[in-house]
Amino acid sequence: MEKGIGIAGIAGRMGTLLAEEVRAAGATLVGGIDRPDATVAGGGLFPDIAALAAAAAVVMDFTHASTVQAHARALAQAGTAWVLGTTGLSAEDQAAVAEAATRIAVVQAPNFSPGVNLVLALAERMAAALPAGQYDAEIVEMHHRQKVDAPSGTALGLGHAVARGRGVALEAVKESGRDGHCGARRTGGIGFAALRGGQVVGEHTLLFAAANEHISITHRAFDRRVFATGAVRAALWTHGRPPGLYSMMDVLGMAPPRG
Ligand code: NAD
Repeated sequence: MEKGIGIAGIAGRMGTLLAEEVRAAGATLVGGIDRPDATVAGGGLFPDIAALAAAAAVVMDFTHASTVQAHARALAQAGTAWVLGTTGLSAEDQAAVAEAATRIAVVQAPNFSPGVNLVLALAERMAAALPAGQYDAEIVEMHHRQKVDAPSGTALGLGHAVARGRGVALEAVKESGRDGHCGARRTGGIGFAALRGGQVVGEHTLLFAAANEHISITHRAFDRRVFATGAVRAALWTHGRPPGLYSMMDVLGMAPPRG
């Protein structure tokens, strides 16, 4: 990779770790973007995403959903690959990501930890095996008090995996934020509950509850560095990759072959 790696959100919680992990991987950090007054340890601060995109072969992006459409345009324009970790995207944001992926390689993952991606694969298989009429799927997540979106991107990823396993669209069966007299649970619904507090890095439990048994699978991240090492692995993987919208499953070699 001749030009090296750039980081959008380089002064943030993830950005700081990403910078360390780029160096630990022996790769070149070209710098990043953040607030104009941000303090960045090593690597230059570029004036905007277009300047960063021009200087980097790939940009790792852990910022805020409000940046996604502008970043999609700038990276596609520059032909720079994009590792997108930002969560809380709207349907319009997601459409902009898909549009950019027709021109550049985009690895988008709500969670870059290898363990979570294994759980996502298991979730789909479990949902395919356990009849929706008998096994109620509930997803519970907990994160630190600063997190701004809910349910988490990973919880939604788990929901999509369960929905895929059941051959339905998540949007049609999602039950989130129950409060007050909200009625009985829908058969086949996929429920979400989000807890916020303290400095929890990320905990997700997928529960299948039937009348006579419960099956649950839990992932706990103790250090957000696990996301940073995964994202750097994804950034290096984009080298020479054709345009397309890829997932961490592709990076880990766990995705089914593309038809
Ligand atoms: P953070 O608030 O600590 O960092 C975000 C950084 O982005 C901040 O430094 C902020 O100044 C900067 N930023 C925001 N808007 C910007 C803009 N317009 N231009 C330049 N910089 C801008 O947050 P964080 O905990 O590092 O998380 C960032 C994002 O990554 C969130 O969406 C979070 O949910 C997501 N995340 C994803 C994963 C994953 O594995 N996919 C893991 C952790 C966090």
